[in-house]
Amino acid sequence: MKVAVYPGSFDPITYGHMDIVKRALKVFDRLIILISVNPSKTSLFTGEERVDMVKEVLKPCIDKIQVLTSNELSVKETKRLGANHMIRGLRAMTDFEYEFQLTHTNRVLEKDVDSVFFMTSNKYSFLSSTTVKEIALFKGELGPFVPEYIENKIKEKLNY
Ligand code: ADP
Repeated sequence: MKVAVYPGSFDPITYGHMDIVKRALKVFDRLIILISVNPSKTSLFTGEERVDMVKEVLKPCIDKIQVLTSNELSVKETKRLGANHMIRGLRAMTDFEYEFQLTHTNRVLEKDVDSVFFMTSNKYSFLSSTTVKEIALFKGELGPFVPEYIENKIKEKLNY
């Protein structure tokens, strides 16, 4: 059984993340979605809320997915969970620079854990949770970027 860990903030999950999950499940049998809850980082949603949202929108493939939170280094957590691969999504060249640094650093920390990259569908190549939150702050249309369930949660959170 091939298992990989997909770490990230998922604050909140977007169609971009979902696209990467779909692609990764064609290569791996199971995915552990590892939501990083960093107390020193400000997030819109709590860890619990993010777990709930990920589980809800990934219902169609929930039998192949486990959703966990962590405040440890993702690469250490991946090793502890018994996986040797971490999934990362690539959007633009700017992601590449960052991921390049991160992958090499992670290799120093855990030499047996490798990163596997998937390129998102072109239509999500500009999409990030940060963009979604910025649009939401100005009460913009969220439909093209997140499922309705997430849209409603964002609206609830921001009272609009
Ligand atoms: P972000 O806040 O940028 O969405 P996350 O920490 O939640 O970032 O992202 C986790 C992983 O998912 C990263 O590898 C990131 O590059 C990837 N990712 C996020 N959004 C997308 C997208 N639209 N397309 C492809 N990969 C994405």
